[in-house]
Amino acid sequence: MGDGRPVTRREFLAVTAGSLLLADTALAQTPGPAARPWYARMRRCGQLNLNERDPLTLAVGPWIDYWESLRVDALLLNGGGIVAFYPTAIPYHHKSEFLGSRDLFGELVAASRRRRIRVVARMDCNYAYEDALRARPEWFERNRDGSPRPHGESPWLFKTCMFGPYFTSQMAAIYREIAGRYDVDGFFTNGWPSTGALEVCYCENCQKMYRDDVGGVPPDQTDATNPIYRKYYDVYMRRIADVWRGWQAVVAEKRPDMVYVGNLGGGIQTVKNVAALGEVALWFNADHQGRSGDTPIWACAQQGRVAQAVMKGRTITNVTGAYSNSRVTWRHVAKPAVETTMWMAQTVATGMVPWFHWLGGAPEDERWKETGRRFFTWLAKNEPHFWNTRSIADVAVLYPQRTIAFYRSGTGAGSWRGGERAQTTEYLQGVYFALLEGRFVFDFVHEDDLGVDTLARYRVLVLPNAAYLSERHCEQIRRYVAGGGSLVATFETSRYDEWGDPRSGFALGDVLGVTATGPAVGPGRNSYMRIEQRNAITDGFTGTALLPAAETRVPIRATSADAPVLTVVPGYPAFPPEMVFARTPRTDEPAAVFRQQGASRIAYFAGDVDRTLWRSGSEDLSQLLQNAIRWARGAEPPPVTVDGEGMVEIVAWETEPGYALHLLNYNNPNMTRAFMTRLSRIGAQQVAFQVAPGRAIRSVRTLRDNRSLSFIQRERIVRFEVPSIDDYEVAALT
Ligand SMILES: [Zn+2]
Repeated sequence: MGDGRPVTRREFLAVTAGSLLLADTALAQTPGPAARPWYARMRRCGQLNLNERDPLTLAVGPWIDYWESLRVDALLLNGGGIVAFYPTAIPYHHKSEFLGSRDLFGELVAASRRRRIRVVARMDCNYAYEDALRARPEWFERNRDGSPRPHGESPWLFKTCMFGPYFTSQMAAIYREIAGRYDVDGFFTNGWPSTGALEVCYCENCQKMYRDDVGGVPPDQTDATNPIYRKYYDVYMRRIADVWRGWQAVVAEKRPDMVYVGNLGGGIQTVKNVAALGEVALWFNADHQGRSGDTPIWACAQQGRVAQAVMKGRTITNVTGAYSNSRVTWRHVAKPAVETTMWMAQTVATGMVPWFHWLGGAPEDERWKETGRRFFTWLAKNEPHFWNTRSIADVAVLYPQRTIAFYRSGTGAGSWRGGERAQTTEYLQGVYFALLEGRFVFDFVHEDDLGVDTLARYRVLVLPNAAYLSERHCEQIRRYVAGGGSLVATFETSRYDEWGDPRSGFALGDVLGVTATGPAVGPGRNSYMRIEQRNAITDGFTGTALLPAAETRVPIRATSADAPVLTVVPGYPAFPPEMVFARTPRTDEPAAVFRQQGASRIAYFAGDVDRTLWRSGSEDLSQLLQNAIRWARGAEPPPVTVDGEGMVEIVAWETEPGYALHLLNYNNPNMTRAFMTRLSRIGAQQVAFQVAPGRAIRSVRTLRDNRSLSFIQRERIVRFEVPSIDDYEVAALT
């Protein structure tokens, strides 16, 4: 290796095989508390992201003082990759041109260690300089015409290829050099592998791989209708796993608890399979630093739920950018403290570890410092209440990974229903919105994790247009229902296999109790659902015979002869007003089907009511989804109810000392448009919290407000009032 010849996967594995075993063993076991590696007990991390010029002026002492004041367990500090912040001896590992005689990384590591702060070397494997491009052309990505790929803003840097020896040889050499010289605890690679779309490169290594392993050149865009893309997806995911495990093995040569952590994230919008990434990751870092544009504030909590679904209690961090990562980006000024704090609050509410991030060693804006310090010191003071043992939610939402990654409507690449790619997440967003409005306590489950062990504790599984499901997924859902579980499903759920090949009908048609009678109809407007029965599903709709219909629906027939609860009123012109009357005011086509099968309750909506809710903000569609989930969940008291004003996200955990109820106050004019700038206090929240049988609660405290609350416990239910919430509150029951 390193002689310019492409490195095969076999060779890479051979090099690292000895220690690979170690990484695999570490993954296979769920260690007890004593055996937990250091990062599993980490609660707070910070990152000072150096720039090349920092060695000229950076004062190490004050920076470490700052991070120590945040009570961080670990610091992310720039080691190398694009730029080395230490006197490296590795050829083509570009030393900061301002380094002089300094060893800035070494100084920072030593100062951190003196304060007992762990250090993770922050690396970047994605770009290198032109001298490397000349000497090691096989390290770099290529365009179709063979030209290298310069960075968009810093065109003196060139993109490296993960299928080439830069990843296997050069990065491994750099890790070994740093691990050999410095007392570090781990390595993190910025920007790799990410959860976004696959890259397509035309370097020699990749062309060979296309010929030998893929059977052709993959398309430049995500297109799961293309058999070559499907093959490439598998090869690509396998390469990520190989590189990840290989790097883990390399860093563990020095010390077995030394960890490699990749860069993941993406919130709910992922293309790479996060369940597969969760299998190789000892530590899942979500690089979900903030929101911009019209991303809702709860995007960070969604990230937490996605990561929890695949890590299942293992280490997850989420980066909070203290700088303005808005639609117009400013790297060197702070974003509003309220927004930053709400992001960190969601991070810890969903069981992730916050990682507070600033760029550049000589800030002229220092406002962010106190924002981080205030939150982190509060967190440190209340640390035991953030040691979660399990979620107490009994509602599960399926994270439809493949639908989000690949879903197309109709045939042919790019035929989205109306535009941009984010649309595949809108079904989930709509369900999420209804769950927030309905104040449900819920978890995400990944579609590749639908076994009995995972699903048994949930009363209901919500399938937000899980259109692409494999036979195995469907069989597992069928088994869950046979065991008494309930379902709420929408639209094209199970109409396609896992790669998007359409089925003749619904694979879950037997469970949902429906047959498709044709292809999806829509998108259209001005169509309705007619209320045919007054019951738990249509509760709250007094004063109307019509409800808004979804934009698109699958025409269906119910397999049972039961009278429908909601029927389809087909669309008619919305303009001009003279033409606005129903041509067919009544049909017997069901808009939804509700059925009971043993202990299971099944609700199926033929339309994309979830996505239509997200696009329209329709109160009726939100209420309808809430009614359906509540009905499917059954009459048993929920694990927790919180009644009061405002838009609140609720997360509830069993913790090492007892229970923790997290209440995130989203009731803010900037809830669905960045940024929150001012607090918007909400008033009293009445809580009924169910504890384990026989468990006597002795104290209920609010951790932000720092008050002891009066409470009443009757059998398993503990009742108390949270008087008000500024941004975030945690009620700790012990
Ligand atoms: Zn390549």
